[in-house]
Amino acid sequence: MATSRLGRSIRPSATLALNERAARLRAQGKPVIHLGGGEPKNRTPLSAITAASAVLAGGDVKYAPTDGTAGLKQAIVRYTEEHYGRLVAPENVIVSSGAKQSLANALLAIVDPGDEVVILAPYWVSYPEMVRLAYGEPVIVTPEDGSFVPRLDEVRAAFGSATRALIVNSPNNPSGAVYPEALVRGLVELCEERGVHLLMDDIYHRLVSDGVRPPSAYAFTGRDVDESHVLVVNGVSKLYGMTGFRIGWTVAPRPLVETMTNVQAQTTSCPAAVSMAAAEGALRGPQSVVESLRLSIQTLREVMLTELRAFEAVHVTAPQGTFYCLPDFRACSEDSEELSRFLLDKALVVTVPGKEFGAEGHLRLSYCGSVKDVTEGVRRIRWALDPTAPSEITIGERRLVRDWL
Ligand code: PMP
Repeated sequence: MATSRLGRSIRPSATLALNERAARLRAQGKPVIHLGGGEPKNRTPLSAITAASAVLAGGDVKYAPTDGTAGLKQAIVRYTEEHYGRLVAPENVIVSSGAKQSLANALLAIVDPGDEVVILAPYWVSYPEMVRLAYGEPVIVTPEDGSFVPRLDEVRAAFGSATRALIVNSPNNPSGAVYPEALVRGLVELCEERGVHLLMDDIYHRLVSDGVRPPSAYAFTGRDVDESHVLVVNGVSKLYGMTGFRIGWTVAPRPLVETMTNVQAQTTSCPAAVSMAAAEGALRGPQSVVESLRLSIQTLREVMLTELRAFEAVHVTAPQGTFYCLPDFRACSEDSEELSRFLLDKALVVTVPGKEFGAEGHLRLSYCGSVKDVTEGVRRIRWALDPTAPSEITIGERRLVRDWL
């Protein structure tokens, strides 16, 4: 079957492939623990359910405005004022079917064939592929010191005449790092000075620990939103754990919003009306749900760190946000894909190879499940890899003895 060069060049989503593999093993009755997931286990906020139910009960679910309903856009304007200290117009906002589509639309609106987009490693798996889908060239900046936070001069060195955009994700998936204020300030100033669009993927900006406040890019530009090169992407997937509703949004200069709206109009028409009602319900409802989610994730982070620190060969940098950490497993293996496969086969634990995120030798472990999943998951990893851990373990009904270390 003939397929396009572009289509063939796009890599499958590693996380989705892992989910499928884990689901297959579970369907065979295997007690798989999933430390690869990217969604909190909370229930949908009641205010979202009520708002969506009202639309469904009305029985009149039709196409909505391409860039989002007026009510949801207004709620996003309010959110932007409250959390970013910026008063933007509804014309600066476009709602999409998830932050993923927001980012893809933005890249399609910005990038010409051969243009470069700078991406900071470790990075979310989808960024390089999205850039390629827009016929652009991803340029990866990897911190030389092996940390999860680049230096400003490393980013500056990656900028050239073909650079059109920089993607920044802080709190960061996969590392959980929150970039320091000085770096964010420097990145904003660099982008404004060079006329490079700065795509801030803020999807985890309120899922933080230890009282950390991720700096808002808007704090470092005196320019009006319409004159600025800053774009802010956010959504309800992580904020309210509403991944299944598929609602994200972008706050951007008007000309970009107009172009992104045309892109969206010709690809998906509009986000789903029921989902937009749910997102508006969540944004307008009691915000204590975000704090409860944040607190439960913070507790799980402590459990994850305590368990991992018992594994001496593995080095873990404490994540300050998200619900992921990216421990360094190079003492066990340099090949994260092989290691991840080994852990699934031997210990029935799903992990995501760091290679997918530009961090070979690491594994991304999520702590958005239950305390039991995190404790048991890390215990199984230690059993499989740590010679100082007991060599016997019970997984499900089976008693297993490690005979490979
Ligand atoms: N950005 C990052 C960094 C993410 O981790 C995710 C989801 N895993 C997204 C964007 C996309 O979120 P959404 O569900 O809103 O498409």
